[in-house]
Amino acid sequence: MAKIEDFNFNGKKAIVRVDFNVPLDENGNITDDTRIRGALPTLKKILNDGGSLILMSHLGKPKGKVHPKLSLGQITDAVANALGTDVKFIDDCMKADEAAANLKPGEVLLLENLRFYPEEEGKPVGIDKNDPSYEEAKKAMKESQKKFAAHLASYADVYVNDAFGTAHRKHASTAVIADSFDKDHKMLGMLMEKEVKAVDNILNNIKRPFTAIMGGSKVSTKIGIIENLMDKVDNLILCGGMTYTFAKAMGGNIGNSICEDDKLDLALDIMKKAKEKGVNLVLGEDCVAADSFSNDAKTTVCKVTEIPDGWQGLDAGPESIGAFADVIVPAKTILWNGPAGVFEFENFTAGSREIAEAIVEATANGAFSLVGGGDSVACVNKFGLADKVSYVSTGGGALLEAIEGKVLPGVAAVND
Ligand code: AMP
Repeated sequence: MAKIEDFNFNGKKAIVRVDFNVPLDENGNITDDTRIRGALPTLKKILNDGGSLILMSHLGKPKGKVHPKLSLGQITDAVANALGTDVKFIDDCMKADEAAANLKPGEVLLLENLRFYPEEEGKPVGIDKNDPSYEEAKKAMKESQKKFAAHLASYADVYVNDAFGTAHRKHASTAVIADSFDKDHKMLGMLMEKEVKAVDNILNNIKRPFTAIMGGSKVSTKIGIIENLMDKVDNLILCGGMTYTFAKAMGGNIGNSICEDDKLDLALDIMKKAKEKGVNLVLGEDCVAADSFSNDAKTTVCKVTEIPDGWQGLDAGPESIGAFADVIVPAKTILWNGPAGVFEFENFTAGSREIAEAIVEATANGAFSLVGGGDSVACVNKFGLADKVSYVSTGGGALLEAIEGKVLPGVAAVND
């Protein structure tokens, strides 16, 4: 695999898979341009070298059909402003042959939403999975996906994948396209490199003690990561909504708290495994319970196993927060995924806020801290602490799969 830092793009046309899947309001205005800004180091390096850019991305879920509200044309000006140069929009990603052929150094093309074509995702549309003809249709779609990817590849001399958000997908633009380039002409972009490095620090380059904090609503969506981390961490904090599945599994009363009743055995199994592996499992002992799921609910602090009927645990209690901080502050490697409570309600942010603050303190003392996966990123942003942790990942599903230890197709494709 080539390295972007070492590659000279002078006179080269680079097709770059970016993640411009930005949130838009009802008028098509971008409400958060983090993803566009995230791609700038790669794009500027290519332009500064004297290369030209063909940018491709998906936006939303058009499911293989043209959907004007999901046109990337809406973000052309924002990309041009961010890059400080003109951007020409091509309203059909399969019709850029002429524009690409005429592209001069320093020029930029932005292709229309790749997912307007079903070939991008490579899944047959309009056929039920149980239909007898599905397998045949899937095979045919894989063949057209190869052609679609080769067509995109034909626009450029070099392929760069800088879309970490979709790196866990084996789509035409994220993986299949790489087959059309030799190993010296395909590479990860700078954002992807940073993401991959951050995950490597967590999985393979661990400084001890290593504390992982897993929160969020459910244990079922995090089980793959919890199992992979069990072989690596010294301390594993499980908090947020999943607390109550554990509390119930231990025979506690959890009132109306969120609970996955079919995961009680799984919870007990996690506790057993942690013991066997010598992992210090930290489950909060107390919580802030509320008499309704609302910011203005009446609250009481109680044991997570003694929640009164009709009440529900919505945040970690003071004892739990103290126990969490005890293993976060001295840690040298930290991973945080998922809030400790319903942080969207101002009155139930304390647990998540104090976790974030403990991580900031540890980071100031030399720890490597990675915050990633959706809501914990929203937390550090909300608390204004994002620039005080070592790394905030841009990937949701991709980050989680990487931490589960899975090989990401978007990374593997350029490594092959
Ligand atoms: P996840 O997507 O699994 O990381 O879950 C994030 C969501 O979990 C956030 O929207 C939180 O509001 C929610 N959450 C965290 N703690 C609780 C809780 N105790 N009860 C209900 N939801 C919770």
